[in-house]
Amino acid sequence: MSLADLGRRAVACKHWRWMPGMLLLPHVDGCECCEERNFPRRAARLPAVFTTEIDVPDLSDPATLGCLLHLVRQAWEVERAVVWWNEHDQGWVADVRPRNFVFVRDSEAHALVAALETAP
Ligand SMILES: [Zn+2]
Repeated sequence: MSLADLGRRAVACKHWRWMPGMLLLPHVDGCECCEERNFPRRAARLPAVFTTEIDVPDLSDPATLGCLLHLVRQAWEVERAVVWWNEHDQGWVADVRPRNFVFVRDSEAHALVAALETAP
């Protein structure tokens, strides 16, 4: 799964919201929305009010991952949800243990997106 696909999965979650400081993936060259506004959308940190329908968060960005962890905590209503590397399983673990949920995936972002998708 590509980074952009993972970002789109995150945005599709009912618990998703843009937070100031999140990094956006750049739009493709010649993107209509960028040309209409004469505003080439590069990778940028923008206030949430400026996001568009096609914006995708860059989940390789540490600050954006921190925001995603915050959204997971809010969605599950647990302050102590954490994400960590599990040597034994060789995977990233999004640990929502106070709610008895653990998500093991191949990346930190993937584990957090799975946790956000599954939140009640
Ligand atoms: Zn655009």
